[in-house]
Amino acid sequence: MRFCRFDDDRYGVVSGDKVHDITAAVDKILAGHKPPRHGDPMMAHFGAVRAAVGDGGSFPAKPLASVTLLSPVARPSKLIAAPTNYHAHVAEMNARTPNRPPGKGIRESGLFLKANSAMAGAGEGVALRFLDRLTEHELEFMIVIGKQGSQIPEDKALDHVAGYCLSLDMTVRGGEERSFRKSIDTYAVIGPWLVTKDEIADPNDIPFKLFVNGELRHNAHTNDLIFNCQKLISLASEFYTLYPGDVIFTGAPAGVGPVKPGDIMTAECAAIGPMVVKCRAYENPGV
Ligand code: MN
Repeated sequence: MRFCRFDDDRYGVVSGDKVHDITAAVDKILAGHKPPRHGDPMMAHFGAVRAAVGDGGSFPAKPLASVTLLSPVARPSKLIAAPTNYHAHVAEMNARTPNRPPGKGIRESGLFLKANSAMAGAGEGVALRFLDRLTEHELEFMIVIGKQGSQIPEDKALDHVAGYCLSLDMTVRGGEERSFRKSIDTYAVIGPWLVTKDEIADPNDIPFKLFVNGELRHNAHTNDLIFNCQKLISLASEFYTLYPGDVIFTGAPAGVGPVKPGDIMTAECAAIGPMVVKCRAYENPGV
């Protein structure tokens, strides 16, 4: 099942080139529950939602091309991200600054958090700030947590997964803390929808690519992850309780590169689906 959010916080099931609008069924389920203290209300009841909507085919449909895709998860308790999780990306970053000692690996540096307010859906695009600085795309495979857990062992890790997405960990390069440079509004693109885990046999066996204006940038495969999906879930849960809707950016593969206003980033991943994200210059709305 391909689950999405779109337009004005509506919920949908994507089927081919259509979106079936399941908002009424989701609202009915959520109306019977107080929002959880932590985590995404809909993801906390995702099992009930799936049982109620089936494949979504009985719900009214509209063309996928006519909707604005939002992040499939609305209110996660946190956005967790892995730095330096592909050897080839570590090498490309080290090569940029040959006089500096190599950065720490993921085992030493651990994970970091991005601000929830940085989230955007594929249809919302990226609003670039600091146009005089280097801003780069990092297309990453993403894990979405479906079941609460703490200190989760690797062999139980996938029991806590609801599904998977693609994500863009947009990054201004520079000397500030990672969480500061990577938490600008819209710099955490999640989408284009959530693919439930029953459709993905092995999350560590997923090829994916990113093109910018048609030029190939990332040509990646999750079997090259230094910490695979199970290890990332286990590591994160050693430090944080994971709640339904929490997401894990699994790390940037090699091929990061600059973007500027007007650029179109197109992700390809057969397991998830294509994701098209436009870049524009940030304009302050004045509020
Ligand atoms: Mn990243």
